[in-house]
Amino acid sequence: MSWGFETDPEYQKVLDWADEFVTTEVEPIDQVITHAWDLQDPLRQKLIPPLQDKVREKGLWATHLGPELGGQGYGQLKLALLNEIVGRTHSGPIVFGAQAPDSGNAEILAHYGTPELKQRYLEPLIENKIVSCYAMTEPQGGSNPVEFETRAVRHGDEWVINGEKWFGSNARFASFYIIMAVTDPDAEPHRRLSQFIVPAETPGVEIVRNTGVWGHDYEVGTHAYTRWTDVRIPADHILGGVGQGFEVAQTRLGGGRIHHAMRTVGLVKRSLDMMLERAVSRTTRGGRLGDKQLVQEMIADSWLQLEQFRLLVLRTAWRIDKENDYRKVIKDIAAVKAAMPKVLLDVTSRAVQLHGSLGVSKELPLGKWLLESYHMGLADGATEIHKISLARQLLRDAIPHDGVFPSYHVPALEELAREKFADELRAVSE
Ligand SMILES: Cc1cc2nc3c(=O)[nH]c(=O)nc-3n(C[C@H](O)[C@H](O)[C@H](O)COP(=O)(O)OP(=O)(O)OC[C@H]3O[C@@H](n4cnc5c(N)ncnc54)[C@H](O)[C@@H]3O)c2cc1C
Repeated sequence: MSWGFETDPEYQKVLDWADEFVTTEVEPIDQVITHAWDLQDPLRQKLIPPLQDKVREKGLWATHLGPELGGQGYGQLKLALLNEIVGRTHSGPIVFGAQAPDSGNAEILAHYGTPELKQRYLEPLIENKIVSCYAMTEPQGGSNPVEFETRAVRHGDEWVINGEKWFGSNARFASFYIIMAVTDPDAEPHRRLSQFIVPAETPGVEIVRNTGVWGHDYEVGTHAYTRWTDVRIPADHILGGVGQGFEVAQTRLGGGRIHHAMRTVGLVKRSLDMMLERAVSRTTRGGRLGDKQLVQEMIADSWLQLEQFRLLVLRTAWRIDKENDYRKVIKDIAAVKAAMPKVLLDVTSRAVQLHGSLGVSKELPLGKWLLESYHMGLADGATEIHKISLARQLLRDAIPHDGVFPSYHVPALEELAREKFADELRAVSE
């Protein structure tokens, strides 16, 4: 029997180091660079690689990957505790070699890439010498892959891709795309699609525009609307078999979703910490904000939501390590993904309110995190889709009961109990 909530003391020392490092080295970088994924930014290139070296020296580089890929193979539970620290920053994931979408794309390449593709793309990706884009969503539909129209057709030794993709994060920085395209339009829904790796410089790949989002102040947006016109790639650039697009997607999305959740715990915790500091610092009507009962309710509700969510994330991480197969933990990951945006939205909203005008100002990051909660409710699938998935799996395991009244109908339970204890009931009534 083992059931505990303690961190191994040795690993706690590692987490303490990471906490201090993120506070003193990573958080200040967020104040001066624009986008940690932009490898062309000279300031970013000056500030981030030395920190990445320190992380490597400490043995904390790309801990989500196994040793065969240059990581520590720490597993998801240890990663969850580390990501809580890293996730409160913009640059942290990239400083620790575990940023989206590269971490998920690396997992796909590691599983399905040819040795040549791994050498050309996976190795520099893991070392953050390059970054990548994942192109799945299309302008006419994101939530339902059956709506996808981008086609990949085999011509001799090549695949030829035509279509449009929407909201590909970081496309303008990327050296390659992993794209989902229809290979057999007439197949059953889950066999229509396949995944391919496409070098960004391939003729016919065009960024129509870089879409910006509220909450990010970059001059140029980072979510690309892309057009693919007769894009030709060698036949071996398919990742997985023809029609296996969904299975391959699970390789990246399972991990991607739980990693977002781990980092979100960090952001929510930061919002609560800010709320707590403000509540004991700001005074009004003869007392501190924290002395007002309505404020105390905000704080209590926030702590409850954070801790409930954190436990769900940690338990899911533990289950992923135990099962060693994302498919067996899909229900838990769907639950974490569905819970995440609301926890971030609720706690951050309270933090905004408690900080008053300062809360909505650009002098605090809270407004950005509020919008981040909407990103979290869409990126890697809309919340509704994950709730549907969770409910379907719960319903699949539920056992129907014959008869008009349910199996837990009290009169029936009473009758059964009377039969079971007939002797005892008789004895006491005599
Ligand atoms: C910050 C961010 C980064 C992203 N990065 C990427 C990326 O790198 N690569 C990529 O391919 N995509 C990316 N996306 C796109 C993301 O995957 C899609 O936004 C998501 O899958 C939803 O698709 P959609 O935007 O087309 O919305 P739609 O599919 O049009 O859905 C809109 C809304 O309709 C409702 N809805 C849809 N279907 C159902 C249903 N069955 N039942 C009930 N309600 C439903 C939900 O409220 C949903 O939010 C990103 C999105 C965001 C916000």
